[in-house]
Amino acid sequence: MKLIQQKLAYEQLLTQRPLSSIDLLVIHCTELPDLSTAREFGEKILYPSGTGNSGHFYIDRDGSTQQWVSLDRIAHHVQDHNQNSIGIELVNLGRFPHWYHSRHQIPSERYPNSQINALIKLISHLSRELPNLKHIVGHEDLDQSRVTADNDSRLTVARKIDPGPLFPWQTVMENTRLINIGTHAKNYDKTTK
Ligand SMILES: [Zn+2]
Repeated sequence: MKLIQQKLAYEQLLTQRPLSSIDLLVIHCTELPDLSTAREFGEKILYPSGTGNSGHFYIDRDGSTQQWVSLDRIAHHVQDHNQNSIGIELVNLGRFPHWYHSRHQIPSERYPNSQINALIKLISHLSRELPNLKHIVGHEDLDQSRVTADNDSRLTVARKIDPGPLFPWQTVMENTRLINIGTHAKNYDKTTK
């Protein structure tokens, strides 16, 4: 598979780990308009260590795939599950730009086939590279916290909804041996595999 290497400026400051410690893939969407906006967020320094938040891989709508962080570095892409996981980000609007508005919680942008095909290729590539890779899950299943809505302090909205209801779990799960440990993917039909 064709991987474009675009390592983050602070990549070498991220904590190292053995590849054998990785057992989980976390699927995200950027909830941003495009890859360059995602890059600006990724490069932002947020921690005393001189690092910030990003996934390991970014897949654009046309399927082109970039690697921003090496597999043996711990990226900050999800609360409490970074150490043993790889973060894969799909470029998709999600709720952009009204993430926490109570009436903008349903994403409308579909995931193009080119992007999902590239994701399936990346998952099988990683399954070969990582001896203990076993599980896959959506970010929304690992972070179910709620925050006060922007527009009404009496309401709460989900902090994370990615990759969201339009993500084709059925197609992805038919094409991998990984086990889905999330509840949002439970609707896919395992018998079709
Ligand atoms: Zn996410």
